[in-house]
Order: sequence, then structure tokens, then C-alpha cells
Amino acid sequence: MQNLKQIKMQLTNRKVVVSNKEQSFAERLYLPAIAKGMIITASHLFKKPPTINYPEVKRPIAPVYLGQHVLKRDENGAERCTSCGMCAVACPAEAITMTSGERKKGEEHLYREEKYAATYEIDMLRCIFCGLCEEACPKEAIFLTDRLVDAQFERKDFIYGKDKLVEKIDARIDVTKRQTQAVLDFKKVKGLKHNELFDANKLNKGHKH
Ligand code: SF4
Ligand code: SF4
Repeated sequence: MQNLKQIKMQLTNRKVVVSNKEQSFAERLYLPAIAKGMIITASHLFKKPPTINYPEVKRPIAPVYLGQHVLKRDENGAERCTSCGMCAVACPAEAITMTSGERKKGEEHLYREEKYAATYEIDMLRCIFCGLCEEACPKEAIFLTDRLVDAQFERKDFIYGKDKLVEKIDARIDVTKRQTQAVLDFKKVKGLKHNELFDANKLNKGHKH
């Protein structure tokens, strides 16, 4: 209670000095303010623009950048996901939904386990790209990648189903580079953000913000 009172005092104790000084003739014409504004505008003409021509030019991103998910296949091309629901339970945004299917005889090459995800959807508008689904998955079936989720005009187009999530059999997505020891160490350092560029020196010093 005492702490709350102190915080309230700090928040309400701010002061602003109000001046009743008479404005000069130039000030009444706003000339100094306009000149100041023009100088600031002109100074930006000689600065390097912060914008980039995306998607032709892309900013470098951290090795642990968390972007669009992929549902992985195993070494034989069968879907790894067994529709256990652990990722959906772990998801703080309730972005994942799925329905289960039972593997039939002759479908061993399609699905790794007897149970598989008949449908699997992630609502990319709900997803906060925290990576908890990846951490929760006991089958190493779901990973976040460095791919950006495309812009869309319709909300429904942000619901990604298996057609967009399961990796193509002839275009596998390599996530091993993202799971190196350096990346795993990076994830352990508190305070480092996923969109921050990897700096081994900071990592060694246990850098904190
Ligand atoms: S990254 Fe986080 S928010 Fe997005 S689907 Fe996975 S657990 Fe949910
Ligand atoms: S992605 Fe992993 S955690 Fe999610 S349902 Fe499939 S096997 Fe389970």
C-alpha cells in the first residue's frame, strides 16, 4: 500500500512552468518557428533515408528471427505431426486449431504416426510469433522460420492451412541452420530480442538491456 502511495505521488507531482512572457512581433508571425521547422526539414535532405525498397532489398535479420511456421516431414517424406495438440495448448494466442485423422493401411509413406493432423490451421493475425508451439512440440514437427508472412487484403487469407504450412516434398525447408549451438545459446540470454542482430561478443558477455 505504501509503495502504491509513493508511485501515485511520483506520477502526480510533475510540474510544468507556464510562462506569461509577451510574444515578440516575429514570434507572433511564427517566423522563428517556421524557420526552425524548415531547417529541420532541410537537414533531412542530406541524411540517408531509413526506408528500404522491400521486397527487392531486405534488412538483415537475426538467426533466431521467428517468422512463418513450417510443418516438417521426416527423412522419408512423411508428415511428422501426430496431432497431439501440445502446440495448440502451449499457444498463448489460441492461434492453432487442428483435427485428427487415423492413418489407414498403405498411408505409412504419408504420415509418420498412426494419428495425424487431418487439418491444421494457424491464424497468422492472432499469432504473436513467440515460438512456444515449436518448443512444445514433442515430435519436432513444427518450427518457425525466417520467412515473412505475406501481406493480404482479406482476413481469411491469413488463416494458413496445411497447404501453406507443410513443407513441399521437393522443396524442403532447412531449419538445422537455425538450431545451431550459437542460436540455442542466444535464446538463453535474457533481454536479447529475437529481431536483434546476433553479436557473439554480446553473447559472451551475457549482454543485457
Ligand atoms: S508462435 Fe506463439 S502465438 Fe504463434 S502459433 Fe506458435 S505458440 Fe501460437
Ligand atoms: S505440431 Fe507437434 S505439438 Fe503440434 S500437434 Fe503436431 S506433433 Fe503435436
